[in-house]
Amino acid sequence: MKKVSVFLDKLYFDHDNGMGHPESQHRLLAILDMLKETKLFDEVDRLQPRDASKEEICLVHDPDYYDVIKSTRGKPRVFLDADTSTCPVSFDAAVRAAGGVLSAIENVVNSEGSTAFLLVRPPGHHAERDRAMGFCLFNNVAVGAAYIIKVLDFKRVLIVDWDLHHGNGTQNMFYDSSEVLYFSTHQYPYYPGTGSADEVGIGSGEGYNLNVPLAVGMGDKEYVKIFFEILSPVIEQFNPEIILVSAGFDTYLDDPLGGMNVTPQGFAQLTRYLKEQAEKYCNGRTIYILEGGYNLDGLSLSVKEVIEELLEKKKTEYVDINENTKADNTIREVIKIQEQFWKF
Ligand SMILES: [Zn+2]
Repeated sequence: MKKVSVFLDKLYFDHDNGMGHPESQHRLLAILDMLKETKLFDEVDRLQPRDASKEEICLVHDPDYYDVIKSTRGKPRVFLDADTSTCPVSFDAAVRAAGGVLSAIENVVNSEGSTAFLLVRPPGHHAERDRAMGFCLFNNVAVGAAYIIKVLDFKRVLIVDWDLHHGNGTQNMFYDSSEVLYFSTHQYPYYPGTGSADEVGIGSGEGYNLNVPLAVGMGDKEYVKIFFEILSPVIEQFNPEIILVSAGFDTYLDDPLGGMNVTPQGFAQLTRYLKEQAEKYCNGRTIYILEGGYNLDGLSLSVKEVIEELLEKKKTEYVDINENTKADNTIREVIKIQEQFWKF
């Protein structure tokens, strides 16, 4: 068995947001070209995703909303919000996107120490229980987390969302849950508007929502330091049974939608970090789920770095986090808020 399983499907290419939209099939085509050129495609297990059932999608979505998305099937174009629309096969793609997470979960849970990367469109983390938003139809990562808790009967799922944007949908779906810990780094204030540090969860979910809102201009040093200083003590105390990553690459230094400065080597370091944590706490069980990333070269280079790191073709050195960084004030602010729930 190979160390990394990659899930990809023709439907993920066929979903179409319309002419000139940044969230296009060219994103996956760029990744696919890279995988073939570098021959990384031969080093991973290429697996076929399944469809999610209505019941599985409705673990986090309203049945009425599911029916709204289903009703777009076969129609040339339906606008769901200002920048989110469907083509005739978008519903089928979205059902297989959420199902792909479930296939990846089944694969990773049934095989010791493996990792999966889901190369998926449409993305998911902005989708709310009853609303499409920000290029997202069904919330792929949230369907996966709910499935792990409610169907597989796990008790502790960690979601790490390193996409440029805050995953409002994911946060809201588990805001009152202590079983799903949501950790997000994101440009702030920015779309979608949520994600301040004092959004910590409610009821029994209090403390199980960790937002790290960041000004523009943060790079590898800042991200690696945030992961070590905020996430490490929390992971140790939470002791996750599986890690899901909302892997957006719109923090890449030349992304047209973002203002961050993360390099492909920065993504490699974050991957090394999560790999080490997963090996320490949950038999390596980690699933990377593609979210954003709109610079085609940056996206494919960054995914290459992540997969090479997962395959242990290299071990990218960490930057020195003892130096001062532009994120230090934010790190202090987040710890000050979160230390009522966690020891730092
Ligand atoms: Zn994004």
